[in-house]
Amino acid sequence: MKFLPLGDTDGIGASCHYLDLNGTGLVLDAGTDPQRSGTDSLPRFNWVNERADGYVDHALITHAHHDHMGGLPVLVQHFPHVMAHMTDATKRLLSFLLPSSARLQQKRLDRGETTEPPLFTEDDLDALEHLYLTHDLEVPFDLTGPKGASSVTGRFYTAGHILGSVGVEFTFQEWGRERRVFYTSDTNMHPQTIIRGGEYPDSTDVLILETTHGAEAAPEQTSRPEERTRFRETLAQVLARGGTALIPVFVMGRAQEILVLLGQLKREGAIPMDVPIYTAGSMRAIAEIYDDTRTTTPRVNPDDQVFGVEQHRVPYEAEAKREILDGPGIMVVSSGMMFEPTLSNVLARRMVENEEDGVLLVGHPADGTPARRLLDAARSDEPGAPVMLADGHGPQPVHCTVERFRFSGHSDRQDLLSIVERLAPEQVLLVHGDPEARAWMAEHIEADHPEMAVHRPDWGSVLEV
Ligand SMILES: [Zn+2]
Ligand SMILES: [Zn+2]
Repeated sequence: MKFLPLGDTDGIGASCHYLDLNGTGLVLDAGTDPQRSGTDSLPRFNWVNERADGYVDHALITHAHHDHMGGLPVLVQHFPHVMAHMTDATKRLLSFLLPSSARLQQKRLDRGETTEPPLFTEDDLDALEHLYLTHDLEVPFDLTGPKGASSVTGRFYTAGHILGSVGVEFTFQEWGRERRVFYTSDTNMHPQTIIRGGEYPDSTDVLILETTHGAEAAPEQTSRPEERTRFRETLAQVLARGGTALIPVFVMGRAQEILVLLGQLKREGAIPMDVPIYTAGSMRAIAEIYDDTRTTTPRVNPDDQVFGVEQHRVPYEAEAKREILDGPGIMVVSSGMMFEPTLSNVLARRMVENEEDGVLLVGHPADGTPARRLLDAARSDEPGAPVMLADGHGPQPVHCTVERFRFSGHSDRQDLLSIVERLAPEQVLLVHGDPEARAWMAEHIEADHPEMAVHRPDWGSVLEV
């Protein structure tokens, strides 16, 4: 088999890999790189032809994060006969997220925020839906390409990362024997609040493994129950002193997980039942998809609904916003990184100087983002250390509570090693992590399993496995 990364492999860029299984051409995910813009954010689809002398028959979309699916409409422009395979929940999420991404790209161009034309339009997407094929978990489906020298079968396994997320197993014939490849995609082996942990096959021959947390010791030193307790206590303190709690979230996944958690905390009596919760924007539409699929997808408790806890819309008018910020109240709004001019940034600027209020960060605050600057200022020894949250605003002294909680949707590195342990592959391909993460994983797998061949595939280089 041939393996060719089409997206940047040194980091969490555009997840996209080409796989040639005995003449059948497959693309594993077709993401866009969140750190780049326009055509530069796309996987290099032309390399399939130029570097692997191949063609794409099928695309497997493992989940609805943009770094795994945002380039799908462009892949289809390159390879018009491609069929895109995914779960029903992922299809529902794509059908909402891709059109809103098309509208956002157009809006940015219209406002003069970019000179890049949109990668695709809403009209392009209408033609796409009939290329989506959905499959249930653990049910085999045929992927054999017209030029395939032997049959290829796919099978989805729940990955525990977000709604609809899967790892994919491929079974095919090579040199007269059956071979299996397993692609974990983004994986989380422990239950979150809504989504159950991943359930993978028992063995494979070639393992393609994500390594997001490969360089980080901290995730394996914290547990979800401990983080939940700390979150509950911090939130209760902020509300008890009459403050407002701002929880910046990603609209997809983390927002819904946090809302179900808030519902549980209210029912447990940990926070007052009558404290209002405010939400806004597309997280509400995504929440409906979460609720609609609660009996057909793996859940910790199918009775838990995102809209099981009462939510008000954040008002649009400045005066009404000021009123609700008087507190106590909880704002669950995007963006998770607090980029300007998103609502989390706007609200944070009105809150950071007020010591009654609190900002509860529930995602990973990446370097260089406003969320990271706020956390760094709050953690500095100097009381009221200044922060710049937006150009032309501040610096502002930080007096509010700022805490970070680890509710990751990714496996920690010990879990990643246990996946290797359990599936006992002959070969491991490390992807979707920065160089330190892939190096740590390679070193530990090689030490524990000298019999395994460990590869760190390079962006744009064909690897014969
Ligand atoms: Zn993801
Ligand atoms: Zn990812």
